[in-house]
Amino acid sequence: MSVFDLPSFDDHESVHVFDDAVTGMRAIIAVHSTHRGPAAGGCRYWHYADSEAALVDALRLSRGMSYKNALADLPVGGGKAVLVKRETWPKTEAYLEAFGRAVDSLGGRYITAEDIGMSDEDMAAIARQTKFVSGLPVDSSQAGGNPGPYTADGVFVGMRAAVRHKLGREGFKGVHVAIQGLGSVGRVLAELLAADGAKLTVADIDEGRAARLAGELRASVVSTEDILFTDADVVAPCALGAVLNEESIPRLNCAVIAGAANNQLQTPADGERLAEREILYAPDYVVNAGGIINVMAEYLGDGNADAVRARIAKIEGRTQKIFERADAEDLPTNEVADQMAREAIGRA
Ligand code: NAD
Repeated sequence: MSVFDLPSFDDHESVHVFDDAVTGMRAIIAVHSTHRGPAAGGCRYWHYADSEAALVDALRLSRGMSYKNALADLPVGGGKAVLVKRETWPKTEAYLEAFGRAVDSLGGRYITAEDIGMSDEDMAAIARQTKFVSGLPVDSSQAGGNPGPYTADGVFVGMRAAVRHKLGREGFKGVHVAIQGLGSVGRVLAELLAADGAKLTVADIDEGRAARLAGELRASVVSTEDILFTDADVVAPCALGAVLNEESIPRLNCAVIAGAANNQLQTPADGERLAEREILYAPDYVVNAGGIINVMAEYLGDGNADAVRARIAKIEGRTQKIFERADAEDLPTNEVADQMAREAIGRA
């Protein structure tokens, strides 16, 4: 199938493919929109079944970044890179530098940062070859560095808006939240929720990680097969995308979905399925924007960690506004968020 025929190609401005013979670095950089500024979005290092799967992932994620950045009111467009993980070609310094040259060759149309499989040290290696990179190691008073805790802050306030709107509850005291995935976002989210009095059920494919966290926070642990279907007030997907689909939605036992994972809905129709079941969905890219807000403050030299936290706090009101518009227009929340994002990037 030609790239132009892929449904996820949608209205992308450009797609760039790189293959470095020396290091084995293979990357796809998808630029969805530069309407609001350079296309910003992280780089994912992942194993894909084939190159079409990598391309589709880059396309879906880059459009998500356009929407996320627009609704977070950032002066940037949206793009995303995927680095295709290959067993015989490890992610060495030279490999990362080759990716840095790939990013640099786009002359600033795309700004990279970390996503799954990438660290702030990796960004430092990339930065030896390009200035169009963010998410570099910093000290804790500055904006920037690991975006995970900032993303968790945003998910926490977005979830609080959802709990207020759907359950009429102020804060998390006694609210039962099930968290799927306890990585750099899910773990901090669990800590924030526990500190606010939530009852937690957690799962991670790393069973040791789940058991340790459960011990520290007095959470219950369930299997990764069961976590989405926990009888809980809120389910927070904080691991993989596409977990909300035709098969899983009928089996959900919660009132609210609010989590960090990108592309939680397998298709836009799954937003409608959730609405039909009267499950309130906090659109993923609205509530998980804390990381990019932080990374862009670092890149643009625009504010310290406190300024970033103040911007992230606005996710609560923004999420609330989406719920109110969805009620008023009788539309699923994901459709309302997409409409608002398209308006913001001039593609309404
Ligand atoms: P991470 O890699 O640090 O953590 C993911 C965790 O999920 C790991 O502990 C992993 O073992 C676990 N996991 C994987 N598959 C699982 C499964 N089937 N069931 C239960 N647990 C499983 O990733 P992260 O940075 O915490 O990001 C989590 C999600 O949030 C990803 O989808 C990511 O794209 C999205 N996101 C992250 C950020 C950020 O700032 N890190 C920002 C926006 C969106």
